[in-house]
Amino acid sequence: MSLLYEAKAAEALAELGLTTAADRLDSVAQEAAASKWSYSHFLGYLLSAELSSRQQRTMVMNTRFAHFPYRKRLEDFDFKAQPSVDPKLIEELSTLRFLAEGRNVVLLGPPGVGKTHLAIALAVKVIEAGSRVYFINAMDVARKLAEATERNHLPRLIRNLTKIRLLILDEIGYLELSKAQANLLFQIICLRYEAHLPIILTSNKAFGDWAGVFAGDPVMASAALDRLLHKSTIINIRGDSYRLKEKRLAGLSTTINPQTSTDS
Ligand code: ADP
Ligand code: MG
Repeated sequence: MSLLYEAKAAEALAELGLTTAADRLDSVAQEAAASKWSYSHFLGYLLSAELSSRQQRTMVMNTRFAHFPYRKRLEDFDFKAQPSVDPKLIEELSTLRFLAEGRNVVLLGPPGVGKTHLAIALAVKVIEAGSRVYFINAMDVARKLAEATERNHLPRLIRNLTKIRLLILDEIGYLELSKAQANLLFQIICLRYEAHLPIILTSNKAFGDWAGVFAGDPVMASAALDRLLHKSTIINIRGDSYRLKEKRLAGLSTTINPQTSTDS
């Protein structure tokens, strides 16, 4: 009788979709017998293995889904090189309270100062906490809009961009949007605002120039800004491009010590 149940265990786990538990059943059972684990210790151990492999799979899937242009973490951000970013503020954001509060994060500044880096690094935290994130830049908005219009999928596109836990709108203002593109962006901002779902937005344009971002429509621009900024953390990054700064530093070291800087 007991043999029957023993044979059934792996099968039942697999049928229940607990594939990791099914795969590891034999070895964990052996370890349990050898170490004289209690039954609940054995069960807890096996189910924890299942849970952590599921979380791992979800994270891999969610990372793929996010469409990041590159992967960066907060640990990779050099705060010393960027004194206009307050590390305490980034630390507060990394608690992900903004997610629960539906608070937007707006990163402003010239190219290369770390806006996208910080946006991605925060989004990685959100994925690690088990939620879905989608990264889209202004150019993608334009492309997706054209595709969706062509295939009659526009309502679905808007629904999808509205449902995701965190949306990153990158490089808003780099590209002049057409009226239709500006409209789509506006709808996304409104719907997410109403659903208390946050956006991380990066832009090189000061708020005063946002009429230009919204196809020259100052009314739409100020309505969008109202919603975007109602609950938000704004981070104004100043300074030179990080890459240029690195290059310049490399150049400087060549002048000071030409023998040692052969790699710049
Ligand atoms: P942008 O502000 O234009 O979005 P990015 O965030 O893409 O700039 O930064 C450009 C590159 O420089 C990226 O590879 C990014 O990781 C790096 N970078 C920018 N600022 C920093 C920083 N303070 N510390 C480390 N890397 C940085
Ligand atoms: Mg960027």
